Amino acid sequence: MDSILQDGFGRSIDYLRMSVTDRCDFRCVYCMAEDMTFLPRQQVLELEELYRLAALFVGNGVKKIRLTGGEPLVRQGIVGLCEKIAVLPGLRELVMTSNGSQLVRMAQPLADAGVKRLNISLDSLDPARFRAITRTGDLAQVLAGIDAAVAAGFARIKLNTVVMQGRNAAEVLDLVDYAVNRGLDISFIEEMPLGDVGRSRGESYCSSDWVRERIAERYSLLDSTEQSGGPASYVRLKDFPESRIGFISPHSHNFCASCNRLRLTVEGRLLLCLGHEHSIDLRTLLRRYPETNQPLLSAIQVGLLHKPMRHEFSLDGEVQVLRFMNASGG
Ligand code: SAM
Ligand code: SF4
Repeated sequence: MDSILQDGFGRSIDYLRMSVTDRCDFRCVYCMAEDMTFLPRQQVLELEELYRLAALFVGNGVKKIRLTGGEPLVRQGIVGLCEKIAVLPGLRELVMTSNGSQLVRMAQPLADAGVKRLNISLDSLDPARFRAITRTGDLAQVLAGIDAAVAAGFARIKLNTVVMQGRNAAEVLDLVDYAVNRGLDISFIEEMPLGDVGRSRGESYCSSDWVRERIAERYSLLDSTEQSGGPASYVRLKDFPESRIGFISPHSHNFCASCNRLRLTVEGRLLLCLGHEHSIDLRTLLRRYPETNQPLLSAIQVGLLHKPMRHEFSLDGEVQVLRFMNASGG
């Protein structure tokens, strides 16, 4: 079915990113403050409510769902939720973004549950630097998790790296080596100003063009027009045809014109754009109308008319969006 969800600019919405928890076992410096307060349990959608919303969106034309967070694998019952969403008629693929910390144990159950592809965050291959960026993470555990994911047979695995000057920018080539030697994709992300993380983001800003130039010092790059239905632009490497190298550039190459996505926070707020605060409160409607989805669908359709044309992030150190990334369905 074609999506009946359209915004005021005629963009069809066929991709939903659902945050299944705001909690996480890491405290990455670009995503969270060191001391985070998480949501009280009654404000968080129940698994049944998450499933009901997934079914509603897929029933109205959404073809791809990404489960994210927070760390989706710390949510109790996540595998069962995946099993149910994966078989919704009309859904093309269920995918997930994870920090990798639980994958040794959970990669195979997730693949068996019907999760088709995984994005795994990996910001450094140096244990001390990895710990400094994630504040609590154990690199060896994450690398073992990536191995487990490779063994579990996902259709594709992509690594995500947020590149920061003075932290991990010098590791770009090592990370590319690591990915291509395993036949994995890797995307480099420009840091976005979401939430007050206690420092100016401009200081560590690293443009995608800078990253691309570093990679070109070691590899022959082939431009690619491939799209994954996401905001990344891609290149391939002449000598490693299996892997794609992506660049997600919210600052330097704004990707809003073809935006096909919505984000659902774990409190049931539907975010129309990552760079704006405007949202629709679906939790209230879910709980007020347990028997019918029509009020939810009407609210979504009216809300979509307010989806902004584009986001505007700047690097001047001001926090433009008060939400932290872990609360946004990153
Ligand atoms: N915990 C999982 C993880 O880290 O992969 C999923 C949630 S996390 C919020 C999703 C993605 O957002 C990660 O790849 C992370 O690197 C990225 N991210 C978080 N904060 C960001 C920021 N301020 N700017 C750019 N990317 C960010
Ligand atoms: Fe947790 Fe992912 Fe945010 Fe890091 S980026 S703190 S792993 S939610």
